[in-house]
Amino acid sequence: MTPVIVTPGPEATERLGECLGLRLQSGDVLCLSGDLGAGKTCLVRGLARGWGVIDHPTSPTFMLVNEYRRERDLSRFHHVDAYRLQGSEDAKSLGLEDILDAAGVVVVEWAERIRDALPDEALWIHIEDIGEDTRSFCFEPVGERANALVAGLEEAYAAGN
Ligand code: ADP
Ligand code: MG
Repeated sequence: MTPVIVTPGPEATERLGECLGLRLQSGDVLCLSGDLGAGKTCLVRGLARGWGVIDHPTSPTFMLVNEYRRERDLSRFHHVDAYRLQGSEDAKSLGLEDILDAAGVVVVEWAERIRDALPDEALWIHIEDIGEDTRSFCFEPVGERANALVAGLEEAYAAGN
């Protein structure tokens, strides 16, 4: 099942991220694909807020990874930006495997560039600019956890939860 959710503007995208962020657990991997300006970082801001990060993530374009914590427990939220990586080998040599092995949530922007370095089971989110402020989010869950993350997401987003 590949649900598609369309958002009418950046605030709606953040809210969609927040809906999904509320459901995230350590070990979950989200792979975001889409062109520059698609809305990946915007979604990550919402994801981080829903998960419980206090400060606002910016795009870590000059770093491989930003790591965030929340107050309620010791778990981590890793925000990876693969834009500057040359491919999967590059990602591996820069320590992506350690990040994936560490207990925590991992969200990867430009995931399509390092596909071979990412786990088979993950929630892929393909983001497309479909005109002005409208963006489509195509969810492609692989594995039990990813399917659980997506189940009921459209309803939760539509209901404003
Ligand atoms: P990316 O990380 O994919 O390069 P960003 O999230 O940094 O993209 O930027 C998305 C840009 O598109 C922002 O300037 C944002 O204001 C704009 N935008 C317009 N409509 C939307 C929408 N529906 N969702 C997300 N961003 C949107
Ligand atoms: Mg970005």
